[in-house]
Amino acid sequence: MLRNRNSSRGQSRRRQSTVQSVSARPERTATAQPMMVGTGSANHPLVDGYENGRLYQYETSVKKSFDAIVPALRKVSAQQHENDFVASAQSVAMQELGYQLPEDILQDAWVEQLDMRSLFAWCVFKTYQRFCDDFFGTSPLSSGMNNKSAEEFQSFIQQCGFHTLDVSPCADGRLAHAVRYVLRLPIEAVRRKSYAGAMFDIDNSIQKWVETEMLRFREGRPNTADEPTRYLKAVAYHFSSVDPGHEGCAAHGSDDAKAAAGGLDRLLAFQTAIENSFCCGASIDLLLLGIDTDTDAIKVHIPDANGEIDLDKFVDAKDVYQQTERLSSTEAELQVEQMVQEVQPAVAEGMLKLICKLLINNLSQIEYVRNYYGSHYEDIGHAERFIGAGIGFEEVQLRNLTYIAYLNTVEESTADFDVGIKIFSKLNVAHGLPVPVVIRFDYHGEVPGARDRAVEHCQRVSEAAKARYSELAENGLLHTLLVVRNCSANGKIEILGSSLKAPI
Ligand SMILES: [Zn+2]
Repeated sequence: MLRNRNSSRGQSRRRQSTVQSVSARPERTATAQPMMVGTGSANHPLVDGYENGRLYQYETSVKKSFDAIVPALRKVSAQQHENDFVASAQSVAMQELGYQLPEDILQDAWVEQLDMRSLFAWCVFKTYQRFCDDFFGTSPLSSGMNNKSAEEFQSFIQQCGFHTLDVSPCADGRLAHAVRYVLRLPIEAVRRKSYAGAMFDIDNSIQKWVETEMLRFREGRPNTADEPTRYLKAVAYHFSSVDPGHEGCAAHGSDDAKAAAGGLDRLLAFQTAIENSFCCGASIDLLLLGIDTDTDAIKVHIPDANGEIDLDKFVDAKDVYQQTERLSSTEAELQVEQMVQEVQPAVAEGMLKLICKLLINNLSQIEYVRNYYGSHYEDIGHAERFIGAGIGFEEVQLRNLTYIAYLNTVEESTADFDVGIKIFSKLNVAHGLPVPVVIRFDYHGEVPGARDRAVEHCQRVSEAAKARYSELAENGLLHTLLVVRNCSANGKIEILGSSLKAPI
């Protein structure tokens, strides 16, 4: 449907430079030797070693499938002038990637240089499709086995005095695993919407709040409106312990204090908006979290009895790990509670319970990083594999896989999209590789006309992206995949087309 707009003039020169530079994007090597994949053992009494093994296997299998692309294409590129090129390229692709490459791109190689940019983008999109089919087909991150199912978590938060947990992390790909990995929560039971710098959209959040309260009132979901529970809005800002001056949040100039204060300001503005817009004592509760993207250890700012947050009053899960490592599990749980109360003696009981759970859950992730990656991740900076733009992306629950820009139109979210393009200019364009952008709009199939509107959104965003980043697009350095998904049917993604000639 959408055509690659490369002009033929100067193309072979560009292609040649791409072929050489494909090798320039640093290949990712295997990380530190895993000590305990799936054995169920753990060092800390409150760590779930079995789940760590399961999550690690999933993370590595997905990332390996994306990271195999460059080495495989280098092999293919080296063979392009041999007699049986197409057959041998397909054999390399099957062996290293598990799928065949598009014949027409390969067939053209004898006339011109192999179009590595298109081939790279095609492989990223193909891998994305396979990754989504696996996610929606086999639910690899379902948490049912470890008493963490969505229903159980919902009933737990209700006991703590909340009916919804709505988290806004930064759009930075190093936080994409915040819910399932860092906080170890079931993805089905937590609302996640990421924004650059965690600066969430207040109007969108008000809309979600209204929708949530309406459902409680009309349908008694997740509980009836007369239950004294509240909507809990959380912000997850981030910082880097290894290189604080450079690898913190780009949206806040790598200034940790600014990132935390920015998150708190936005939370307070949302709370004021709810209180001023709705009567009868309507309000929400707030929670501010910091995530160290190098170790995944969280900092939880503990609210006082009135729910007020002081930026200086927090508990660091790294300290919790250290102070509870040698205790029994019962003693360790008590110690966590004490640590929170020491910081904020008047913390509300339900909030205390929830915070203790988040800190304890995070201990598993701290040990996960230590076991599988060492004292910190190797890729402390950006290493995302593609940009996701639009509405959806429930499948993206892995660190540094995707930079997500939530948007309805490019115009309203230019800042978020620009940050993504800037990140990929360094990651890919600097090495001659295109920026792969998945444009995706999920829709509710039972709503008349919803699919058509999702398709229109996809096309509009794709055109706007090509216009805004026209230089990249014209040079074959920006490729888009257009995808919709009926989220009510919980089925596969539907690929509408792409900027590539070869169908995915
Ligand atoms: Zn950030």
